[in-house]
Amino acid sequence: AKDRGKNTYQFYSNNLDGISTWKMKMENWLRRAMEQNQMTLHYQPQFDLGTGKIVGVEALIRWYHPEYGYIAPSEFIPLAEETGLIVPLGKWILREACEQRKAWCDAGFSDFPIAVNVSVRQFQDEYIIEFISDMLEEVGLEANYLELEITESLMQNLENSTIILNQLKSLGVLLSVDDFGTGYSSLSYLKHLPIDKIKIDKSFVDDIIYHTNQGMMVKTIIDMGVNLKFTVIAEGIETEEQVKFLTQNACQIGQGYYYSKPLSAEKLEKFLLEGKGH
Ligand code: C2E
Ligand code: CA
Ligand code: CA
Ligand code: CA
Repeated sequence: AKDRGKNTYQFYSNNLDGISTWKMKMENWLRRAMEQNQMTLHYQPQFDLGTGKIVGVEALIRWYHPEYGYIAPSEFIPLAEETGLIVPLGKWILREACEQRKAWCDAGFSDFPIAVNVSVRQFQDEYIIEFISDMLEEVGLEANYLELEITESLMQNLENSTIILNQLKSLGVLLSVDDFGTGYSSLSYLKHLPIDKIKIDKSFVDDIIYHTNQGMMVKTIIDMGVNLKFTVIAEGIETEEQVKFLTQNACQIGQGYYYSKPLSAEKLEKFLLEGKGH
């Protein structure tokens, strides 16, 4: 029993060492990646389900490591959040997205906002509002071209999120709730917060055709969103059947591989010039 105890201890000890070594490595890579400009943003268009026009784009970070190749956001964003690196990284993302949007404004693509994912951790930086306000001014972008995608986890502290979101709203930016329906949070926040859009999570959109219950759920979310005067976006649309269902149920905006994958700035620009967004 003694030996086993010792082995068990060693097993955990080694394992934890392994994890923290990996984390430290990854953290160093992340820092270097930021210094060496290995990160880029891709842009996924969002479409008006009625007219087919582009009514928004979501900025999504991409990291190509010179040795290890593409590293998915789901691999490094959680670590960036845990280590706090998301704060400087998030600032870079916000500025980069706004600079790109400004360039598109100057090129005459003037109708749609750019949506940027913002982690809860970024709101622990007390200067985030000031940063966004100053950055918009420096970039020369009007605030209503910037949309912030927040998650329901921010709403867990309702008092705090009310203050933050009201301050953001007074800057003039748009606010959307990402991954709507997955946060296990009370819906009562919707009445109190200055929210413009809700994005129905892909997991709900996935099975709407084949499972009546799932379809009913999506229909209910759309109805609620529309009644509360939110714009409702469905994400992760991959099939024509999904488009049909969403359109029939009065969902306004759609995003997903069915329309387009996230594209480099140059490719999105071509897409826009082909008339799909003009
Ligand atoms: P998310 O915000 O829910 O973004 C949607 C994800 O679904 C993206 O994955 C997008 O490429 C993918 N997607 C879009 N349409 C489809 C589709 O039709 N089918 C499938 N299978 N996937 C689709 P991505 O880019 O790998 O990002 C994953 C997550 O990482 C994001 O989920 C977001 O939570 C986070 N993330 C990505 N970029 C950023 C960023 O710039 N900042 C922060 N804080 N988080 C980010
Ligand atoms: Ca998002
Ligand atoms: Ca989402
Ligand atoms: Ca999602």
